[in-house]
Amino acid sequence: MVRETKCAIIGSGPAGYTAAIYASRAALDPVLFTGLQMGGQLMQTTEVDNFPGYPAGIFGPQLMEDLRQQSLRFGTEIIQDDIIEVDFSDRPFRLIGHTGDITLADSIIIATGASAKWLGLENESRYFGTGVSGCATCDGFFYKDKSVVVVGGGDTALEEAFFLAKFAKEIHLLVRKDTFRASQILQNRLQQFPQISVHFNTELKDILGDGKKVEAVVLKTSIPNEEEKVLPVEGVFVAIGHHPNTSLFKDHLTLDERGYIKTVKGSSKTGIPGVFACGDVQDSEYRQAITAAGSGCMAALDVERYLSSRLENNGIFCLEPESTIATIITKNGITCLENITL
Ligand code: NDP
Repeated sequence: MVRETKCAIIGSGPAGYTAAIYASRAALDPVLFTGLQMGGQLMQTTEVDNFPGYPAGIFGPQLMEDLRQQSLRFGTEIIQDDIIEVDFSDRPFRLIGHTGDITLADSIIIATGASAKWLGLENESRYFGTGVSGCATCDGFFYKDKSVVVVGGGDTALEEAFFLAKFAKEIHLLVRKDTFRASQILQNRLQQFPQISVHFNTELKDILGDGKKVEAVVLKTSIPNEEEKVLPVEGVFVAIGHHPNTSLFKDHLTLDERGYIKTVKGSSKTGIPGVFACGDVQDSEYRQAITAAGSGCMAALDVERYLSSRLENNGIFCLEPESTIATIITKNGITCLENITL
C-alpha cells in the first residue's frame, strides 16, 4: 500500500515518541514507524532513576509504554514496520518498509537511536542466546545460582551486574582499563553486592563451550607476561556501549567520524531541508533518555516551522552543517548551490 503523511517519524524510543506527541498536538497527523525493537533501548533496562517526573523511579518498558500511550492519545498512527529504504532526493520523501508498504512524507524525523556493540568474537555470535546475552533484564533469570561475567565498565555494565546479582551466585565484572567509566553513584553502589568481583585491566579473549552452551571464558590481563586464564562461567553479558543506527542514511545524509548524523548546532536540522534527526542517532555526547526526549520535542517543532514556512514562503534555503553546499527549494524543484560562504 501507499500512504501519505505530513510527518513520518522513524523510531520508537523516547526521541521518536516525544516527537510524535508534539507533532500530533500540532495537528501534523504523524505516522510513527516502530522499527524492529519497539520502544528502543529502554525496553532492555530495569529501573530508570533519572527520568524527571518519577520520584520513585520507573521500569524502562513501563516508561516506553507510557510514552506510547501518550502519543496515541493525541492521534499518532503507530505502525509496526521497519523502514529498509529511503529516498530523500525528491519531494515528497519516500520510505519503504519491510512489509513493502510505501510512505510519501512531506517531512521526516529520524529517531532510530543506537544499538548495543559486541566484542566481535566468533564464539560470541555462536553462543548468542545460549549463554551470551546483551540484556540482563531479558535473560538474567536463567542464571539463578550460576557464575557469569559482565564485560564493560560503564553505567550499563554496572546496572547489568546489579540486576544479575538478584539471581547469579557470582558475577565477574571485566573492565579493560584500570578505571570505570561508570558514574560515581553506581560505583559506590557496588559495595552493596559482595557477589560482584571487579577485574580491572582484564579483557575477554574467548568464550568456550561444548557447542551448545557456554562453559568458560578466557581472560587476559594487561600485566606483562601474565598467562591467559580460564574462568568457568555459564553466562556472558556484553555491555560495552552502543553505535548509532545510521546505516540506512549513510548515502543520504552527512555523518560524523563516529557514524552519528550531523545536525545543525542547536537544532535537529540535517543537511536536507525537511529531514530532521533527534535522540541517540545524532548525539554521541549525552545519550540519555531525557536528552533524547528533549531533542524529539525540538525535531517536532522544527518540522512544524519547516512545513509552515514552506507554505508561506514557498521557498527554503538551507546550508548543510559544516559544508559549503546550500539547498534551495521552490515549488519548481530543488537547486543545490556549491561553494557558498555565509
Ligand atoms: P559507555 O560508552 O559509557 O561505556 C562503555 C564501557 O565499555 C566502557 O567501560 C568501555 O571501556 C567498555 N568497552 C568498550 N569497548 C570495549 C571492548 N571492546 N572491550 C571491553 N570493554 C569495552 O556505554 P554505556 O552503555 O555503559 O552507557 C552509555 C550512556 O548511557 C552513558 O552516557 C551512560 O551514563 C548512560 N546510562 C545511564 C544509566 C543511568 O543513568 N542509570 C544506565 C545505563 C547507561 P573504556 O572506558 O576503556 O572505553
